[in-house]
Amino acid sequence: MLSKIVIANRGEIALRVLRACRELGIRTVAVHSTVDRDLKHVRLADESVCIGPPQPGLSYLNIPAVISAAEVTDAVAIHPGYGFLSENADFAERVEESGFIFIGPRSETIRLMGDKLSAISAMKKAGIPCVPGSGKPLSDDMHENIRIARDIGYPVIIKASGGGGGRGMRVVHAEAALKNAIQLTKTEALAAFQNDAVYMEKFLEHPRHIEFQVIADEQGHCLHLGERDCSMQRRHQKVIEESPAPGITPEVRERMGQRCVEACQAIGYRGAGTFEFLYENGEFYFIEMNTRVQVEHPVTEMVTGIDIVREQLLIAAGQPLSIRQEDVVLRGHAIECRVNAEDPKTFRPSPGRINIFHAPGGPGIRIDSHLYDGYVVPPYYDSLIAKVIAHGTTRGAALARMTTALDEIVVDGISTNVPLHRDLIRDAAFMAGGTDIHYLERKLALD
Ligand code: ADP
Repeated sequence: MLSKIVIANRGEIALRVLRACRELGIRTVAVHSTVDRDLKHVRLADESVCIGPPQPGLSYLNIPAVISAAEVTDAVAIHPGYGFLSENADFAERVEESGFIFIGPRSETIRLMGDKLSAISAMKKAGIPCVPGSGKPLSDDMHENIRIARDIGYPVIIKASGGGGGRGMRVVHAEAALKNAIQLTKTEALAAFQNDAVYMEKFLEHPRHIEFQVIADEQGHCLHLGERDCSMQRRHQKVIEESPAPGITPEVRERMGQRCVEACQAIGYRGAGTFEFLYENGEFYFIEMNTRVQVEHPVTEMVTGIDIVREQLLIAAGQPLSIRQEDVVLRGHAIECRVNAEDPKTFRPSPGRINIFHAPGGPGIRIDSHLYDGYVVPPYYDSLIAKVIAHGTTRGAALARMTTALDEIVVDGISTNVPLHRDLIRDAAFMAGGTDIHYLERKLALD
């Protein structure tokens, strides 16, 4: 087993990784910025190292600082969590060159899947269905771009190949707007991702977002853990996730899950990963792969009983998977609500001091959160402060438990999106299941 690891993240995911380490007897090193000294996992870790000032670029994204922390503490591996350096191939490479284990896929795999265009071509080759699109970077030749758009058919979406976090995308409804949209997306992509390659895809108008969780060991065994529906989104950011996805039959799950497993084997994948698809009129279209643990991994854990972070640690230690595909059984239904420190109407971030935090409880309720009374949410990072996860034998039972949990939770002192969740969980269309990715924005526009 790994003797000691660095947790190169903050907030709820750092705490989640710490808990998995404790269960496995792995010692932990928390690295943190100056404002994060009082984070719960920093207090609970065996050791902690301050790696810089609050600005992420100077601390959580500072590669030499994170690697030095592993060196000075004699750690053997680094868990990147999600966000920050988790999908940075250069980081993974430097971790391995420095003699540490990167808890994730090989750096070449991260590089291949991190660039959306190279990911799409690798997936096409592996037999995964993709969204009709240019399949290559758009040139400056507008005649060609116009032809590609006409072939695909409007509306189209211009996407940054190096994009992530829901940024670097622009929908084009008519030819007149095409040139401008390509130029703007290129400029944005260069500034945000240091890569101005953009491509074009058919913009699907009523898709759902359905993704498959996979885990693969170093020895080439791979399993899928079913799917999640993450269609409730605002600005391409997930707000509520659930597993299984309403309406997906066991046959479809098995067929798509198996295809993802084969794609993993084709690219020599290692660790936990997610294949993201848009799903429309019964067809799946691959959009990207996330080569890390995801925010929404708990819903899969609740229905499969498999601890995904524990599996990541065991795989990194070189152990083969101890379960086979036939051992993966989905039980019941799980839903996750992401609680953010933000105004529920304007969505403006709402950092500050939390006077009182009451976590809900009861059967089937899981809370992944680093909050405590008196904790101060700093303004420098992602606004996610808690994940409320409800499990039940049926979707209806999970919804009923989530409704109770959301009525119980108290986060006093700052604004949160809990009122939005209370509203969404009682929304007739959401309760019926199967709403598309534009549903939330349409609903918010009506309010
Ligand atoms: P990111 O890496 O920024 O998360 P993705 O490619 O995963 O970007 O897309 C994020 C979201 O953007 C999707 O869940 C979906 O809501 C929307 N989206 C992306 N591509 C398309 C498309 N071709 N048609 C419609 N919506 C899309």
